[in-house]
Amino acid sequence: MSFIVAVDGPAGSGKSTISKMVAKKYKLTYLDTGAMYRMIAFTSIRDGVDLDNIDKVVDLLNKVSIDMKNDKFYVDGKDVSLEIRTPEVTAIVSKVAAIKEVRIKLVDLQRKISKGKDVILDGRDIGTVVFKDANLKIFLVASPEERAKRRVLDFKNKGIDEKFEDVLSEIIRRDEFDSNRNESPLKKAEDAIEIDTSFMNIDKVVEVISKLVEENKN
Ligand code: C5P
Repeated sequence: MSFIVAVDGPAGSGKSTISKMVAKKYKLTYLDTGAMYRMIAFTSIRDGVDLDNIDKVVDLLNKVSIDMKNDKFYVDGKDVSLEIRTPEVTAIVSKVAAIKEVRIKLVDLQRKISKGKDVILDGRDIGTVVFKDANLKIFLVASPEERAKRRVLDFKNKGIDEKFEDVLSEIIRRDEFDSNRNESPLKKAEDAIEIDTSFMNIDKVVEVISKLVEENKN
């Protein structure tokens, strides 16, 4: 029997940083499902696909090959790990992720990759749709201001200057869009454990989740 941890929550709540650390600690396979939606968004820009033309989007889904290895992301064999985090991709990814056909393809892939493995997945719909019967469901939240502050710092560490106000409004816009779409909206699963990380450092969050992993593992 495989062990599945679902980590959901709004943009910038620390899902990927925390999930990576928990994965390492407990030797779980980590799957960044947001990056998968970002790869499709990147490809739609690359190929100039009109997102309102579903036939074209479906063509793209049938043709594109996406792959993940050692924290790197590949579209048609090319490493696009940096490109999928640009403001251009971030600006359209929610629109891409609201398309039913895109979700069907990526959810199927997420389940295939996870099959038979001990995994931790982060996203928006892991506990509500992808793995409704996950062994442990976490819903990470933090105030929009705190999340924007962390994002700005992340960018700064990568040598990218982003304005706090711009990041904050982008986060609020994306959460609203993700929470109000018809297909698998961002939502806390009834049986998920909510953790507000606004006043916690990363190590504290990992400690809290580690306790839950240990309680649920056997
Ligand atoms: O996690 P990240 O911010 O990289 O996700 C980018 C976008 O992908 C989200 O804003 C959301 O629209 C979409 N997404 C989703 N379902 C997931 C993961 C991400 O709809 N499981």
